[in-house]
Amino acid sequence: PTAELQALDAAHHIHPFSTQSNFEKEGARVIKRGEGVWLFDSEGEKILDAMAGLWCVNVGYGREELVEVATRQMRELPFYNTFFKTTHVPAIALATKLAELAPGNLNHVFFASGGSDANDTNIRVVRHYWNMKGKPEKTIIISRKNGYHGSTMGSASLGGMSGMHAQGGLPIPDIHHINQPDWWAEGGQLTPEEFGLARARELEQAIDELGENRVAAFIAEPIQGAGGVIIPPSTYWPEIKRICAEREILLIADEVICGFGRTGNWFGNQTVGVQPDIMTIAKGMSSGYQPIGGSILSDEIANTLGKDEFNHGYTYSGHPVASAVALENLRIIEEEKLIDHVRDTAGPYMRKKWEELTDHPLVGEAKIVGLMGSIALTPDKSSRAAFAAGAGTAGLICRERCFANNLVMRHVGDRMIISPPLVIQPDEIDVLAERAHRALDETYKRLKEEG
Ligand code: PLP
Repeated sequence: PTAELQALDAAHHIHPFSTQSNFEKEGARVIKRGEGVWLFDSEGEKILDAMAGLWCVNVGYGREELVEVATRQMRELPFYNTFFKTTHVPAIALATKLAELAPGNLNHVFFASGGSDANDTNIRVVRHYWNMKGKPEKTIIISRKNGYHGSTMGSASLGGMSGMHAQGGLPIPDIHHINQPDWWAEGGQLTPEEFGLARARELEQAIDELGENRVAAFIAEPIQGAGGVIIPPSTYWPEIKRICAEREILLIADEVICGFGRTGNWFGNQTVGVQPDIMTIAKGMSSGYQPIGGSILSDEIANTLGKDEFNHGYTYSGHPVASAVALENLRIIEEEKLIDHVRDTAGPYMRKKWEELTDHPLVGEAKIVGLMGSIALTPDKSSRAAFAAGAGTAGLICRERCFANNLVMRHVGDRMIISPPLVIQPDEIDVLAERAHRALDETYKRLKEEG
């Protein structure tokens, strides 16, 4: 029975990013099964998952092909490591495929179990790289406030979430944060284009202040996801590209959310038009069917590191079952032309439905790239005001109303965000939009009642 499961869950299972004591008052929803874009809970309710789990189930739930590949691989070789001088076919095949898909000279993969540990790898890679180049003083990594790059000590330090830094004494040394390009919340009187340029130039200012001889790298998501799907103004990335080209720093594109079709290209950096030196990958790499991530390094970085022993690795680096499943997932994305589907069919239709939400009195801007979108809730569209009750209240109510209407959307402050499975079809997008609208109406009513 659901209540029994919830009681055990509250008693013994610590949930990430949650206030555990709340589960004693109201139990967590027990998800039992998935099919396409749909989830089914222990009470038999059918829920539209507009978040693809945690931005990861790109090919949708219930893919038998992935089950079969995992089963076959578990029978043949459930585990072997890739340390020292052994390897195996799944890791070789996956690394080769990723090198083919990754843009430019990104041809070398260091595997991890997810995005956090992949970003930890990146910290060590860039610092060690500059050391090998005879510039050991280049240790500082610049990232952005409100960015999310994972939950380990290193990756949470790269992230710019103050709530995370406050717990556990972060950031680690030599991480510097600049502002995010969130025009809606922070753009003031500037046009989006002026603001995009100004925020990009903060990178240049930071390099000047810290010293180019001390800065190793800049890390950012092409489109910031967990920070609230912040889609930068069109001027932002071209200016970042110019700065990176002129300065001796490495560019790390965190593609954990943007990668594997989410923005209508294989990788988000292709959508925003920059060539990184390193990409962080995870999530959609296996559509979440197995935990796997990695760092894809340029020829220059990999060849430099390759001259010495790199004292770094995870037991599950290149795990054979996870690698085989990821490879099959990439085959499905290709065979079913899911990236074309996002770019030409689902993306444009979702955009139309999404932008129509701006007719709602609560919705300020509605932005979307591919199948990654956000709406900003506001009490006053013209001034782009935030809710007086404090950022997050309206968003939290709206998320709860979505959930009550069997729609999973997430909120970041007063932004509502979506990232549905890439397989979503137009009739399912209609359901998504209709339920989102209903949840917005209910939120509006609640906020009015509460004054
Ligand atoms: N980087 C980005 C951009 C992410 O969104 C996330 C997770 O949401 C991570 C890194 C961390 O990945 P993981 O949770 O697999 O460790």
